[in-house]
Amino acid sequence: FKGPCTMAPNSIHWFRKGLRLHDNPALLEAVKGAGTVRCVYFLDPWFAGSSNLGVNRWRFLLQCLEDLDANLRKLNSRLFVVRGQPANVFPRLFKEWKVSRLTFEYDSEPFGKERDAAIKKLAKEAGVEVIVKTSHTLYDLDQVIELNGGQPPLTYKRFQTLISRMDPPELPVDTLSGGLMGRCVTPVGDDHGEKYGVPSLEELGFDTEGLPSAVWPGGETEALTRIERHLERKAWVANFERPRMNANSLLASPTGLSPYLRFGCLSCRLFYFKLTDLYRKVKKNSHPPLSLYGQLLWREFFYTAATTNPRFDKMEGNPICVRIPWDRNPEALAKWAEAKTGFPWIDAIMTQLRQEGWIHHLARHAVACFLTRGDLWISWEEGMKVFEELLLDADWSVNAGSWMWLSCSSFFQQFFHCYCPVGFGRRTDPNGDFIRRYLPILRGFPAKYIYDPWNAPESVQAAAKCVIGVHYPKPMVNHAESSRLNIERMKQIYQQLSRYRGLGQ
Ligand SMILES: Cc1cc2nc3c(=O)[nH]c(=O)nc-3n(C[C@H](O)[C@H](O)[C@H](O)COP(=O)(O)OP(=O)(O)OC[C@H]3O[C@@H](n4cnc5c(N)ncnc54)[C@H](O)[C@@H]3O)c2cc1C
Repeated sequence: FKGPCTMAPNSIHWFRKGLRLHDNPALLEAVKGAGTVRCVYFLDPWFAGSSNLGVNRWRFLLQCLEDLDANLRKLNSRLFVVRGQPANVFPRLFKEWKVSRLTFEYDSEPFGKERDAAIKKLAKEAGVEVIVKTSHTLYDLDQVIELNGGQPPLTYKRFQTLISRMDPPELPVDTLSGGLMGRCVTPVGDDHGEKYGVPSLEELGFDTEGLPSAVWPGGETEALTRIERHLERKAWVANFERPRMNANSLLASPTGLSPYLRFGCLSCRLFYFKLTDLYRKVKKNSHPPLSLYGQLLWREFFYTAATTNPRFDKMEGNPICVRIPWDRNPEALAKWAEAKTGFPWIDAIMTQLRQEGWIHHLARHAVACFLTRGDLWISWEEGMKVFEELLLDADWSVNAGSWMWLSCSSFFQQFFHCYCPVGFGRRTDPNGDFIRRYLPILRGFPAKYIYDPWNAPESVQAAAKCVIGVHYPKPMVNHAESSRLNIERMKQIYQQLSRYRGLGQ
């Protein structure tokens, strides 16, 4: 007989990030010895409609939830997508479902910590035991900070030194299976679909007419396929270096992982240990260097820097951010965000971002530098918000940290080098195929002029059926002049800063 046992606890597992059944220690705690388990995800339809997140991000999330529900069904369970805010709904659920155990994954971000503290309090009041497990990061970030004397490390090098003194990350735990479910069941009502089904984009208020299919399909199943492909490619490359950027790397790759790591469809520990195994196989058991995990460690670095800093995504009141008197220029910002700068390299990248939700790391460098210290002198916070809306992998800590980095507001100070919005692209993709793909209006330009079509003779513009200033905008700034001026401004700010710091000593 497989039915709920009266004395065994009734659990709720609360999904937020960590949208997976593999390596999910809190989920395993939920089913351990339990009579019933209900996996919930909170979604507030009102918030969805009014939020700043773009349609691609919502679609990715809904696909993750669909996939989770499909995988839970294989275990005779289901996902409960609960409409509303956790703090308002949990007390009712605790009563209705006679809950005695609540489990969730540890969230290191300041907003998440505050939310979770409030829920823990509600649970305590309702007599519900709470179990929290770390699995979104490789390390216990508080431990890294403790090792550094209570302060988050502000250089990557320091961060590496600290983690080299710590135990290696814990091994991934088993994937939830029928065997691990044991006697634990999920009571599912006939009205489950109606009450707790995964909503559609239309239900969330999005107009999906003409929406092209997703370039990055969401979900754990897709993530697990991708990681195998990712590793095959790594094995093939064998020297484990990051592949050099070329025209091809600008395009969405079926081995890309960042949105999956962001939503936790893929466990960073699974990735870490699969990399280790592969390295040992290829390099005949030699000890892997820290650099093997470089990209994953950058992610940990930004998470660590942000965990105790609720102002991490702001300039004002953020102790690690240099205060720079950026210009307020909504018109220029809109041109950047809407791919109308008149620089094909910048506009093609911003178009790809809006259409597909992912752009290459160095493409992020190009557009972030252009918006901030390179050309437009607009605050990194504005750029970060646009990325937050459009990037599938947008992550509070990593996004804000990277924007501070690129704008020389924190972590990095080499403001005397700016990316050229013409030369950078030309070196990466000399033929300009990337631009032709995302800005079809420029398709007819020869490679010679595709990065600076305003320099093309009239006859070339006419032959390309694209007159600059009519069919495609003229460049919104003179890059040579604006970048020279902006470097000068940065120099003065840093000089003042060092004088001020000098006085303080
Ligand atoms: C302005 C700016 C904003 C960014 N915002 C984000 C963001 O919101 N979320 C995000 O995940 N990455 C962000 N990045 C970092 C980086 O661009 C992406 O992680 C990377 O391009 C993802 O592609 P991939 O999966 O092919 O990465 P790979 O090179 O295959 O790396 C594997 C994984 O490591 C992590 N990673 C790689 N590079 C970095 C990095 N520099 N910093 C932190 N983690 C890294 C990602 O999770 C990635 O999936 C940003 C970079 C810049 C310059």
